[in-house]
Amino acid sequence: MAFARNIAIFTITVSLLTFIAFFGRLPAFRNTPIGFLHRLLVIHIPSGLRKLDIYLTNGRVTGGGSRLGHYLMYEKHPVVLIFFLGLVSGSAGLFIPVIWSPVPLHHKLFIPFLLPLPYLFTYLSARRNNGTYITEINHAAQMRHYPYDRILYYPGNHCRTCKFLKPARSKHCSICKTCVARMDHHCVWVNNCLGRGNYRWFLALLLSTGVMLAYGAYLAYLVLAPIVRDHYAKYERWYRYEADPSSDPSTWMSFFDMKLHHFLTYTSISLDVGGLRLSGVGLLALLTWPLPLSLLGYHVYLIWAGTTTGESAKWADWRDDMDDGVVFLGWRREDTMHTMRDVYASQSSHHEQQDSNSSTLSSPIPTPPETPPDEEEPPTTWPLESRHILLRTLDGHPPQNLSSRIKSVAKEDSFKRCWQLKEVENVYDLGFWDNFIEALQ
Ligand SMILES: [Zn+2]
Ligand SMILES: [Zn+2]
Repeated sequence: MAFARNIAIFTITVSLLTFIAFFGRLPAFRNTPIGFLHRLLVIHIPSGLRKLDIYLTNGRVTGGGSRLGHYLMYEKHPVVLIFFLGLVSGSAGLFIPVIWSPVPLHHKLFIPFLLPLPYLFTYLSARRNNGTYITEINHAAQMRHYPYDRILYYPGNHCRTCKFLKPARSKHCSICKTCVARMDHHCVWVNNCLGRGNYRWFLALLLSTGVMLAYGAYLAYLVLAPIVRDHYAKYERWYRYEADPSSDPSTWMSFFDMKLHHFLTYTSISLDVGGLRLSGVGLLALLTWPLPLSLLGYHVYLIWAGTTTGESAKWADWRDDMDDGVVFLGWRREDTMHTMRDVYASQSSHHEQQDSNSSTLSSPIPTPPETPPDEEEPPTTWPLESRHILLRTLDGHPPQNLSSRIKSVAKEDSFKRCWQLKEVENVYDLGFWDNFIEALQ
């Protein structure tokens, strides 16, 4: 029983640490114990160890270690991807042969359908040429996709490495060494940036991996349950629950103790009779299936909010500064909004003229006019345009000397102190359904 209890403690600790490593950096956990534990794990403990090493051995131990750490953290490498696919392949190789003959036929048909999906979606997320990277060739089209909102993204910023204007919602990735369209985050799991071209494949990878793990745990249960039940019936007197005579049997505590006893009994019998191939892999699947699915849930939330992982951190920064009372919200002058509204207007008046001559309707989808590649803010195909400008001031006083860039578009004296994020428009949020379609495109 002590063995099973140790296994349970160990697996819960590993699951908790994995959860913290996965989710601890998210803005939602910024001021919570999970955020604190994440900082402890990735910043304070490594830097404490490094200081100790410098004190004791003049940095000899961590010198090599930090080079390896730097390589793993800041270079493009497939170590995690190989580990993940190796773990899936190894586990499937151990697991499938033992469950193949006991499971009913429909599972035999479903397993070959489900198992290749994580490999396929990993490949589609990881391959370079998937339209995520901004190149000389697609740069003009990327510039015309999203408007600058003057909250998270301003026009006129150049990428010093790629030597072109940064499109709205793009970010340069120092690991992939390229600018990425609609950058979500750099994912070590697929050794690539997640952006406009591969975000949907990443979502599919999370879904298929979560379903595969839950299904694996279910199959292990399906095969193990009758064996464990037989075993329990045969040796019942060994496993029978004996309550502590000093405790009151009607309390929650003793009920919990009995349930825990049964859970640990069944777990240890399962490990005994199923071994590593059936119970070990099944337990791993049981403990890990919520991870990809909760990450998927988080991304569905981001899609609902019309934002990305990177942008949600920027929004959280604005919210923190609003709490400090140093953020000011101003309005744009209508005459500076020159994007698709003008194109729609000119095309519809054009159509009206045409329609008066002939009754045929041409396509209602306007195509933006060709613009020179050095145009800082070309017309976009995006249906919304930002009416807000957000500024933070160092001293907390209303903005005094506006830069010429802001002066040229802002209504004078329109800046008011802003206390809440909900007062600000997010032009990248088209509503859940349209956001979803956009993310899957
Ligand atoms: Zn760049
Ligand atoms: Zn990257």
